[in-house]
Amino acid sequence: MYINIAIDGPAGAGKSTIAKQLAKTLGYIYVDTGAMYRTLAVYFIRNKVGEKDSARMSALVDNADVKIRYENGEQQLYLNGENVTPLLRTEEVGNMASACAVNPDVRRKLTEMQKAMGASCNLVMDGRDIGTTVLPDAAVKIFLTASVEVRAKRRYDELTAKGITPDLAQIRADIADRDYQDSHRKHSPLKQAADAVLVDTSFMTIEEVLAHILGIVREKVQNA
Ligand code: C5P
Repeated sequence: MYINIAIDGPAGAGKSTIAKQLAKTLGYIYVDTGAMYRTLAVYFIRNKVGEKDSARMSALVDNADVKIRYENGEQQLYLNGENVTPLLRTEEVGNMASACAVNPDVRRKLTEMQKAMGASCNLVMDGRDIGTTVLPDAAVKIFLTASVEVRAKRRYDELTAKGITPDLAQIRADIADRDYQDSHRKHSPLKQAADAVLVDTSFMTIEEVLAHILGIVREKVQNA
């Protein structure tokens, strides 16, 4: 039996930063499941599938071979043999990822892969449905959240640091939309698992969140 740690929560709560550092501290593999949805999104965009064209998504999804490899400790996503990792973080890909994540065939394909990974190594996996659907028996489940206001401001600061002049109101609206879409879809909506620990990061630094979660892990998992 391998030790699985599930971290779920809305976009911008700090999941990937925290999950990545937690995995490093524990010597576990880090799996960013959002990147897997984003990889299929690249495939659909390239094949000119509309965001609402669920039938074509279902028809095409099995032609997309998604593989995760670890190179120098970093997760790399391959789509039909091509490393698409540098293409995944755009708004266009994020929007298509959120759109295709409502399709049950897309979810089935990625969920199967994620479950297989959980059965094969110690890992920290982050996403939206990890504690509820992908790894229901995970040793530790964390639901990481922060207010829309704080998440919007974090995204704004990130973009400003890159030299972009973003519109804070627009970012806030996009985050609220994405939250709505993720928590109201029929299949595997974003939801806190009954046995997950809620961590609100609105007024915490990354170091504080990490220390807090490590405390929870050490309480639940011997020898972690
Ligand atoms: O976390 P990230 O923003 O990269 O995820 C992109 C999209 O993929 C999310 O908006 C969500 O709709 C979807 N997703 C999901 N289930 C997961 C991970 C991501 O539905 N486990």
